Amino acid sequence: STGKITAEMIDDMARKHFPMCMRHLHECLRRDRHLKHHGRLQYGLFLKVLGLSIEEAITFWRRSFSQIQDDKFNKEYRYNIRHSYGLEGKRANYAAKSCVQILTGETPGPGDSHGCPYRHFSQENLSSALLATYSSQGLTQADLPEILHAVKSQHYHVACTRVFEITHARDGVYKGEGVGGGESVTHPNQYAARSRELEK
Ligand code: SF4
Repeated sequence: STGKITAEMIDDMARKHFPMCMRHLHECLRRDRHLKHHGRLQYGLFLKVLGLSIEEAITFWRRSFSQIQDDKFNKEYRYNIRHSYGLEGKRANYAAKSCVQILTGETPGPGDSHGCPYRHFSQENLSSALLATYSSQGLTQADLPEILHAVKSQHYHVACTRVFEITHARDGVYKGEGVGGGESVTHPNQYAARSRELEK
């Protein structure tokens, strides 16, 4: 369905439509009720491009950071959220980060949740994260060798594209079709947009 995306819809949309990088950010946010700077930036701009309005974004982050008080939220986070929507400071229209930007950007340190799991997780952690995240959408242990092979060859977007195909096989997506016409994943928002399109 089209129409307005609200803060309450994000849990469900994440489960159905988000690539691994954004699933990871979403789960860390739910678990820790917080995200560090680079994670907030990567996830916040993704949600903006997904179609979350500034009002809904404030609602989403305010509720997500449920352990902090209103005055702290208003002082430390509200401005930055408005800034990322081009409503503060130099009022720039910030784009969401592409896969290349995420892959070559700031390497996540301890406690960070940003980055690309295919690139920044150990093989072990990636395997268990993929199974935990996507087995309800059809990904199995038997799919892992092929995905890990792409990762070892540093073809992270190929691994991500293969996961997209596997988890959308029920929508009729076949191997090699990618996110449409044989295209690989190049942007987390392209992944989510194609997934939502297939649901219609
Ligand atoms: Fe996200 Fe791109 Fe990595 Fe996929 S390849 S998990 S969309 S950064």
